[in-house]
Amino acid sequence: MERLQKMLAHAGVASRRKSEQLILEGKVKVNGQVVKELGTKVSASDTVEVDGVKLEKEQKVYYLLYKPRGIISAVTDDKGRKTVADLFPHIPERLFPVGRLDYETSGLLIMTNDGDLSYTLTHPKFKIDKTYVARVKGIPVKEQLRPLERGIVLEDGKTAPARVKLLSADPKQSKAIIEITIHEGKNRQVRRMFDAIGFPVQKLKRERFAFLTLHGLNAGESRELTSHEVKLLR
Ligand code: URA
Repeated sequence: MERLQKMLAHAGVASRRKSEQLILEGKVKVNGQVVKELGTKVSASDTVEVDGVKLEKEQKVYYLLYKPRGIISAVTDDKGRKTVADLFPHIPERLFPVGRLDYETSGLLIMTNDGDLSYTLTHPKFKIDKTYVARVKGIPVKEQLRPLERGIVLEDGKTAPARVKLLSADPKQSKAIIEITIHEGKNRQVRRMFDAIGFPVQKLKRERFAFLTLHGLNAGESRELTSHEVKLLR
């Protein structure tokens, strides 16, 4: 059960506030009866009409996308660039990305039309682990990576301690591959963390989100999450 105005907002009818207005104006019917009470609870089995139009119940759908570089993590772009939504031309549901990856970052992105799950997965209090593999300029020694593990002061606050592993180093080209796991989602966080220790990121990929990996997918490909996976994410 959920509050009628919340249900209308989730269904994409209008914002929460506008939905409240519609209810107060007597424009919303539940099972054929006008309902003006804002606290009214409805369930999936109730029929809801707004201005005489029945709400279609959109199935919740969940996809795991291997986002390629050079695509934006949004549903529309005012500059007309390709978006992650463009990678799902045959899916009728209005999918949006859970969180963001930068234009130049590749990797694992969940796409869904489930606003509640998206909220849970992106809210810092839920502390979902996200693992990235970064190619950085220069080869840090352990001691130089330590600030990332302790937490580093960025302009918008101190980062929580990260788990960091040097995977390989190429002394000839002076670059290193580093795995880093964080559970926050500040804007461009990994890039800014490495900038702060003087090893700028040249390439970044998200390999893992909670227990999910990119296993079996190439860049640009996606698969539906299983119902078991969705249950585990909740
Ligand atoms: N950190 C970044 O810097 N970029 C991303 O896309 C994700 C995390």
